[in-house]
This record gives sequence, structure tokens and C-alpha cells, in this order.
Amino acid sequence: MADAVTAPLARAILKRGREGPVRGGNPWIFSQAIDRVEPSSPEAGSLVTVHDASGALIGMGYCNPATTIAIRMLAWGEAPAIEDLVSRRIKSALELRRRFIRDDTNSYRLVNGDGDGLSGVVVDRFGDVLVVQILTAGADRMRATIVAALNELLHPRSILERSHGAVRKQEGLEDHVAVLAGEAVTGTIAAENGIKIKIDFEHGQKTGYFLDQRDNRAMAGAIARDARVLDAFCYQGGFSLAALAGGATKVIAVDTSARALEIARQNLDLNQYPANAVEFVHGEAGKFMAETPNRFDLIVLDPPPLARNRGDAERAGRLYVELNSVAMRALAPGGRLMTFSCSTHFRGDDVVRAVRFAASNAGRTLRLLAHLGPGPDHPVLLGHAEGEYLTGLLLADL
Ligand code: SAH
Repeated sequence: MADAVTAPLARAILKRGREGPVRGGNPWIFSQAIDRVEPSSPEAGSLVTVHDASGALIGMGYCNPATTIAIRMLAWGEAPAIEDLVSRRIKSALELRRRFIRDDTNSYRLVNGDGDGLSGVVVDRFGDVLVVQILTAGADRMRATIVAALNELLHPRSILERSHGAVRKQEGLEDHVAVLAGEAVTGTIAAENGIKIKIDFEHGQKTGYFLDQRDNRAMAGAIARDARVLDAFCYQGGFSLAALAGGATKVIAVDTSARALEIARQNLDLNQYPANAVEFVHGEAGKFMAETPNRFDLIVLDPPPLARNRGDAERAGRLYVELNSVAMRALAPGGRLMTFSCSTHFRGDDVVRAVRFAASNAGRTLRLLAHLGPGPDHPVLLGHAEGEYLTGLLLADL
């Protein structure tokens, strides 16, 4: 053990002039920026100190020689031993959340990867159940330390792992779904803005629920009074429930996942709404909007990521324009549209441009009321634009 702790880390030396982004807080170092690693050929996931071309220390990260993001930074300047760093990071992540998570909410993102100084690690909290996603080879080595820190800080009933997806595959890792500590729970009831939400850990998407939309659901509730609402791409009905709580008169919710709709129905019951409080439509949201004779005072448009990679962005842009055009046509005069894109390859100004284009196609004059994004439990390092993904706009028909 003593050897493992005290063994000096490998050193990665950057090419001359390539230290700018990382010094500016971008945690991702691409292989082209690296001059050499000493000793060479470190194992995937091993820790390295990172230095500029003159040898000056920049910080510490972990490497994977097999991926284009060759190093992911964990700390800038001198770093403590990894166990101390992980425990410190998780502790400060929790302290930050405690400052702004409302009392009527027990579910939030506790650790948001790079944005919390723990690249490749996501922890979502649903009351006394924690769901961990470990995405990279470097993060994979921290599993036991993460579990120990979470247990010590929160004493959860259960820590589950649900690690799957494209990033793990690129990292050379298999999917990993397991009970890491405590009970083997399959579901729980979360509280979000005072609304009860059933979480299905076995079959739900991602960690079970899309916590990044919490504040936007609250916003939808705040503007839903007396409105006819369309929740397009509703998943388990989070926006629909918020709209009902906000006084919507009619809600239609559309999704292609029968399982998600089944849980959405259960969520109505959980919150003491009658089964017909929402009209659920099992089908394609785009097709539904193009064909419905209904007009809506509030439409929420929250599609899955339409661009899976950078090369896909143009095709995704066309799809996105089309989807927004049909939504705008289904807006009642004076209606509001909350439109989102959750792809890192199609965000920010791309979304604004596409939505302008859609308005022009639809022949509507819309006003931009607010830029929307994920809540503050999804922090992103200031130097890391690639870490941003969820872009939303709140629009109102003139
Ligand atoms: N608004 C949701 C999250 C949406 S995630 C929330 O607040 O929690 C995207 C959803 O789109 C998923 O539930 C997925 O099943 C659904 N989906 C994917 N393609 C679809 C399509 N063409 N039409 C309708 N729903 C679709």
C-alpha cells in the first residue's frame, strides 16, 4: 500500500504553446497537445501530473492513451492524494447544493463530472438513494473511494451504479450496473418542487430521471395558469405535473416510450390527480404536432439529443427547425413555447438561429423572454464550453 500511495505519478509534458486552454480551466487535453509522457505508455486511467513545455506544473489528471481526450484534469496546481481529493470534491459538491436546493426538493445532481472537479463521475441523489455513473477508465479506478465518501457524508439507504453509454465504450469499458452499497432498491419516490415523481432505477432512462430540467419545470408551472398545455417528449410527465400544479386547464403529453407514459400515469395518481387530468399520446411528437387540430397556450418541446456527434449537427439542425416549426404552428395566439436542445453538438447560438428560422417558416412573430439552461446543480467549468449541453429558450407569440 505504502508504495502505491507514494509512487511518483507519470508526467505529461504539453507541446509548446498548448497549455492555454487547460490553464484557462478546460479539463480536457487532446492527444495532439501532448509532447510526451514520462515514463511512456501509462495504463488507461492512471494518474499523471501535467506540465507545460518548460516543465512548470499545471495540475493533475488521469489519462487514457486510447481516447482522443487523452487527459482529463482533476485539479489545478498541487493536488493532494487522490483519496483526499475525491472526498474533498464530494464534500464541497454537497455543500454547494445545500445552498440552493429548495426544501420541497430532495432530488438533484450531487456530482456533475468536470463541473465538480471529478471528470467522468456523475452522482444523482433521489432522497436516500444515490445513483452513480462512472464514465471513464480514470473514474473507474475511483469507484471505491467515491462510495466510501458518499457513505460517510450521506449514509444513504442505497448507492446504485448505472454506467452505460458511448463514452464508456470509447474508454474500453463494459457497461456496469450494480448495487455498490446498501439495499438493492429498484425504485423510489422523489420530491421535486413539491411534486412526487416515481423513479424507476431498473428501466428508467439515464440515472432514472432528467434532473437538469427541474428549474425549467418550475418555470413551466409558473406560467401555466389557465393554459392549454402540450408536453412534447414528456418522458415521465415532469413538465405536465408542474403545469397541472400551476393551474393548467388541459394537458396533452406525448412520448414514444410506453414505459415512460405508464410511469407518468402513476405520477398523476401519486399526486392525487384524476387519471384523465392529462391526455397521454403514445407516438411521435413531431407527427402529433403536425396533425393535431388543437391549439396550445404553452408548449414544452424537449426532444432527446438530435445530434450525437459534431458531423451530425447539420442533419440535426434541419430536424430541429422542422420540429420547432410544427410546434409554433400549434401555438395559440399569444402562446408560450419552451424549446430545448440537450445536445452538446447543437447548443447556444445554434439553437437561437434554428428557432429564428423555424419562426420564419411558421410565419410567427415570437419574442425571446428568457434563455434557459440546466439548474445550478449542473455546474460547468468556465473554461469548458464543451461541457455545456442543455440550451433552452422561452418564447412568446406577439
Ligand atoms: N421532458 C422530459 C425529458 C425528455 S427526454 C422530462 O422533463 O423529464 C426525451 C424523451 O423523448 C424520452 O422520454 C424519449 O422516450 C422521448 N422520445 C424520443 N423520440 C421521440 C419522438 N420521436 N416522439 C416523442 N417522444 C420521443
